[in-house]
Amino acid sequence: MTTNWQTQLVSAFTDFQTLCDYLQLSPNDLNLSSDAAKQFPLRVPLAFASRIEKGNPLDPLLRQILPIGDELKTYAGFSDDPVGDLNAVKQTGVLHKYHGRVLLINTGACAIHCRYCFRRNFPYADLQLSKQQESDVIQAIQNDTSIQEVILSGGDPLILNDARLARLFEALAEISTLKRIRIHTRLPIVLPDRVTDELLELLKHCPKKIIVVVHCNHANEIDTDVAQACQRLKSVGVTLLNQSVLLQGVNDDATALCDLSERLFDVGVLPYYLHFLDKANGTGHFQVSEKEALALLTVVQNRLSGYLVPKLVTEQAGELSKQTLKLSVL
Ligand SMILES: *Cc1c(COP(=O)(O)O)cnc(C)c1O
Ligand code: SF4
Repeated sequence: MTTNWQTQLVSAFTDFQTLCDYLQLSPNDLNLSSDAAKQFPLRVPLAFASRIEKGNPLDPLLRQILPIGDELKTYAGFSDDPVGDLNAVKQTGVLHKYHGRVLLINTGACAIHCRYCFRRNFPYADLQLSKQQESDVIQAIQNDTSIQEVILSGGDPLILNDARLARLFEALAEISTLKRIRIHTRLPIVLPDRVTDELLELLKHCPKKIIVVVHCNHANEIDTDVAQACQRLKSVGVTLLNQSVLLQGVNDDATALCDLSERLFDVGVLPYYLHFLDKANGTGHFQVSEKEALALLTVVQNRLSGYLVPKLVTEQAGELSKQTLKLSVL
């Protein structure tokens, strides 16, 4: 019998030994670090762990979730708040950085803890918007007619239950100047059972255009359950995009990037962004140099149809948009 997504969330792996036993790995081969796990705990649901190859310490999905000693090293240029969001978010739960779009942080919680995450050093539990704050935010969006798109981010907004989301969507539906609601979430990938019938109903009946940006870094993250979850989202008219992060030892390889784009398109998702790593403390070992990244993207561009090539972007404090890194034309 299948269990519901919330039960799966609660029973996610959170300790080394249980996970290692499940993956048929010896903790001694993995450079595990309990100090790294103290900073940002291990958390991975079974649905995601089941796609990690058993007995392979170098598996690209494993590398995304395993707290290792490398996280304790310091790297030049890395900090706790690399994109300068923390103060802005903490005060209001809203980030209004870019024209026409506003980003809401409704929850700081996530279903999985990705070791490369730039929010790994955020005080997660503090980021929750209270009910009162949420209605203030809705009011502020209503008052600013330049806002055409609301972006739900986090944490992971789909960690909120369907009733809570329904309330939020109802309020947003009332704002006539708002055209689109965009959801940035890793849940359809990490825990595909999150795409419940109730969620689909809610999205289907929302009068705004809905965009779901899934966060997937490697083709192996997409199994038949994920494919089905994407199909279900598509069936109610949602536009599906993907953003990934370029990660050393995970997808810093032209074939891995091409396979990812192909696999995404197979399940109805268009590649959108390939992000450079945000320089958050504890993530330096994932860094890929700009030169290497551009070389990789050149190969990808030469192999794939244009619409399968993601935009390579970085986020820089104070800019009016994310910065696209272009291949130089000789
Ligand atoms: C990335 C980001 C957005 C969305 O940017 P797009 O380029 O439209 O995807 C909006 N607000 C903030 C604060 C962001 O960091
Ligand atoms: S799901 Fe997103 S926000 Fe959460 S830990 Fe992973 S990368 Fe960070």
